[in-house]
Amino acid sequence: MIRQQDLFIDGNWVKPGSEKYLDKYNPTTGELYGRFASASKEEVDAAVDLAYEAQRKWERLTSVERSKYLYRLIDLISERRHELEDLLMDEVGKPRKEAIQEVDGVIDQLQYYAEFARKITGDVVEGTKGERIILQYKVPYGVVLAITPWNFPAAMIARKVGPALITGNSVILKPSSDTPFTAGWMVQRIAEAGFPKGVVNLITGKGDEVGDYLTSHKKVAVITLTGESRTGVKVMRSASSIMAKLILELGGKAPFIVWKDADLDLALKVLMWAKYWNAGQSCIAAERLYVHEEVYDQFIKRFVEKSREIRVGDPRRNEMGPLINYGQLSKVSKFVASAQEQGAKVLLGGERPKLEGRFSKGFHYLPTILGDATQDMEIFREEIFGPVIGAMRVGDNFDRVIELANDSDYGLASYLFTRNLSLAAKAFREIKFGELYVNMPGPEATQGYHAGFRMSGQAGENSRYGIEEYLKVKNVYLDYSPDPTEGEVIPPYT
Ligand code: NAD
Repeated sequence: MIRQQDLFIDGNWVKPGSEKYLDKYNPTTGELYGRFASASKEEVDAAVDLAYEAQRKWERLTSVERSKYLYRLIDLISERRHELEDLLMDEVGKPRKEAIQEVDGVIDQLQYYAEFARKITGDVVEGTKGERIILQYKVPYGVVLAITPWNFPAAMIARKVGPALITGNSVILKPSSDTPFTAGWMVQRIAEAGFPKGVVNLITGKGDEVGDYLTSHKKVAVITLTGESRTGVKVMRSASSIMAKLILELGGKAPFIVWKDADLDLALKVLMWAKYWNAGQSCIAAERLYVHEEVYDQFIKRFVEKSREIRVGDPRRNEMGPLINYGQLSKVSKFVASAQEQGAKVLLGGERPKLEGRFSKGFHYLPTILGDATQDMEIFREEIFGPVIGAMRVGDNFDRVIELANDSDYGLASYLFTRNLSLAAKAFREIKFGELYVNMPGPEATQGYHAGFRMSGQAGENSRYGIEEYLKVKNVYLDYSPDPTEGEVIPPYT
């Protein structure tokens, strides 16, 4: 039987009034996986109104009281984590090991946010004269609209819902239409954890319909979006009418620099992860490979050999699963074709694997390495989001390599492999990316601030800085002298 999922509003699962449901396909087989509700404007209005009311009570609890709900949620997720791992394997096509890692990440993040309950602080500042002080304390904004992508569907929910809730905001969650059931599973655990009604609501439907309507809704105070840069631009435009606070985590195009003195074994090991993790569908994926000319031939040869060993297919039995949907598969294929037209050479892959039976209709693509890439090629300019990478030979001028790395619309993650501390220090200073990984793999840590430069976004997530994005500084001016007006010039007309 095909599964069907409704909306979650004010603590209840409710059928969409229109009875309109959208289809979700299994990326590994191309078969129909389930149907999920498409919310109407009226349902969105009702959910936002209820979230707005619920938030007023939720913010009256202390953060320590709120953290108890989060700890309960962590327990519930931990107890039933195998269900979530299965969902990630089905809905995204993640290999088992990666599904397990993502669930670990969900728990790790929620723990960090729950522990933050005792760390929310403000300031007390002296007034300009007399016995006066200014209290600067941090308050929640109100209703947070959390719009999530499909590539880490559970971790991205934890990363947004956790900090929003601990700081006293309520949430409208709008997940990707490619992963509605992972979102539904998370929301069901939230319901079981006993969060007050209306504090977390699930609205599903098409991004450019229901998402667009939500981003200009007057009662939404914060919009936290993880998605493509072009979606960020649309959301920014739409949210300008309500002056919502924006937290935008957008696309990436990470440069991966291998210098002549690098530990090549290490660089290769990290590259295999940085390129093929989640079949290349990660915002911090290596997307541009710059290799010093002295080591280029041997490094690329080894990279091709190692990549050829990756088994692609059913994610429960192989190291790499499919791409998320047919659209993504054809986009990736087009990038490879355009790179060839522009003069790049296919050193490996460049096609779909030949799979048997029900897997033959899955959205798989082989690990693909393109040699002789150049800076102006589409594969070096646009986010590919698949198991494809272009490699470029670079000369001995490190400044030039930093310039090439920085020459991108995107500025999220970057990687450097060198044993030369002076060059690494130069990169710390000059690379214009939110993250630089030197001689090590990612992903970002929960206590690190994840934030992109340029079209990769604005504001950021994780760490103290990320949690504080959900808090507004409110000022109270207080005069505690016996006669507050003494010595004060108060105009007679006031
Ligand atoms: P997407 O932009 O297609 O969709 C993201 C979300 O936005 C979905 O929920 C979608 O329904 C919604 N949406 C789409 N159009 C909308 C609109 N007009 N108004 C409101 N909401 C709208 O992105 P995706 O394909 O789901 O995810 C992949 C992208 O996410 C990649 O670009 C990747 O780099 C990026 N990403 C970034 C980070 C980060 O931390 N910076 C992390 C993961 C993924």
